[in-house]
Amino acid sequence: MRFKKWNDLKIYEIYPTSFYDSNGDGIGDLRGVMEKLDYIQSLDVNAIWFNAFFCSAFSDAGYDVTDYYNVDPRFGTNEDLEALIAECEKRNIKVIVDIVIGHTSEQHPWFLDSCKQERNEHSDWFIWTPTIFDGDDRCIANPKERDGCYRINYYITQPALNYGFDNPDPEKPWQWHYTDPRLEPLREEVINILLFWRRKGVYGFRFDLGPSLVKNCQSSKPLEFVWGKIFEGVKKEFPETLFMAEWGNPAVSVGKCGFDIDYLTHEIPEYNALFRNEPFTNIIRELEKGKNYFSEAGEGSIDEFLTYFYEIEKQLDGKGAYILPSGYHDLIRLSEGKSEKLLKVIFAFIYTWKALPMIYYGDEIGMKYHRGIHKDGGSVRTGARTPMQWTDGKNRGFSTAETLYLPVDNSEISVEAQENSGLLPTVKALASLAKNLSYDTPVNVLAAGYPFVYERATAQGVYTVVLQAANRSATFKADFDKVLLCENCSVENGEIYTEGVGFAIVYKNK
Ligand code: BGC
Repeated sequence: MRFKKWNDLKIYEIYPTSFYDSNGDGIGDLRGVMEKLDYIQSLDVNAIWFNAFFCSAFSDAGYDVTDYYNVDPRFGTNEDLEALIAECEKRNIKVIVDIVIGHTSEQHPWFLDSCKQERNEHSDWFIWTPTIFDGDDRCIANPKERDGCYRINYYITQPALNYGFDNPDPEKPWQWHYTDPRLEPLREEVINILLFWRRKGVYGFRFDLGPSLVKNCQSSKPLEFVWGKIFEGVKKEFPETLFMAEWGNPAVSVGKCGFDIDYLTHEIPEYNALFRNEPFTNIIRELEKGKNYFSEAGEGSIDEFLTYFYEIEKQLDGKGAYILPSGYHDLIRLSEGKSEKLLKVIFAFIYTWKALPMIYYGDEIGMKYHRGIHKDGGSVRTGARTPMQWTDGKNRGFSTAETLYLPVDNSEISVEAQENSGLLPTVKALASLAKNLSYDTPVNVLAAGYPFVYERATAQGVYTVVLQAANRSATFKADFDKVLLCENCSVENGEIYTEGVGFAIVYKNK
């Protein structure tokens, strides 16, 4: 039986560079997060996922690691992390860290070793061809000592670690089958890294590019094998470790490869169909993929998402859960092109739908995407990674520094400004209500148009959620004895009414 801690997870994602700067150097740090734990707790979060913060060359914002055993000095020290974990534990908040094991930085000592012509411990930890004249389209000819091309995983600065191939090409003996015993030492080292952090109190790990580990995969079998070995190694000592995938395919990552949770990404059309289909709501600004369901125009459809959801439910079969994120560090901010009213309806959905809610820092106050900035290889993504806006004061309360690492948005949006009104109080109310719902709580759809209506039945009672994203009136007659939340709508004689872009959550005791 797999453990079920994921069942109640409410996750908050923090991009450490931009959350809070405790030492005035213009860049966020772990001590800064510690100072803001009261705030995080006020969002009823029980897990924080931190974006990559280990030593890095920062050609890809921390996703090019140079040392897996140490926190990068820009964020603090290992002791700071331990102190942060201890504080989180007191508040029942689990810490999930990003471990990038598909590739290292080109500056990682393993790779520098691997580039040497003379054989050494790390010669085979990366994927090398025998000469600089032999390679495939993801290979770079090595300008250093070793004669060969090496495979990259993402950016040119990120050489792929070697977990082998599915169906290796017999003409290319450098492609090792994923079960080849020569691949074991690297896997063992990955397990050591995970155990090292697990012993320090880290509860879970988020792995990026999950499907990329084995090359040339024709099925999920090779990935089941490699991930399975890694998880097994950790679970021997810590059976309760949480494994979170960036895969964007929960049916495979959770359903087959042993992950506990996976989040919906922009690669999933059905996720995009919710609120990321229209121009400038995804990654590529000009691209229109269709209509958003959550749109005031009310021209979208929720059917695509529902079909996807029912299918996932079947595939997951109780093995784990999928996460419904408001956004994440690789996407345009959720708030783009959406009114506060509409954002409230979207958050009502994220918190009450049958999924694990995940809020990307700042989305809860409607932080804006910042156009035209580029740092640490973030490219267009950088605009969604700007400093958290805490107050109306200097640097929006993020830092006392004169110069910031990333520019802060100077709009009036801030935590302070929304203390009593705006998006934040609604998000908090929803988060508090969502404590009564877990992934196990069944969902039953009552109406799948505009409005979208569903109920969630717990042992104590039934929650009915009425969402009207469209800017036109809607009425719904529900059976309830209490109105829990009602935004931009009214309830009279058992009838929920909105003129448009509103939501209500009502409750009936069993
Ligand atoms: C991360 C990206 C990163 C990429 C390459 C993804 O999982 O979310 O931010 O650029 O992996 O490591």
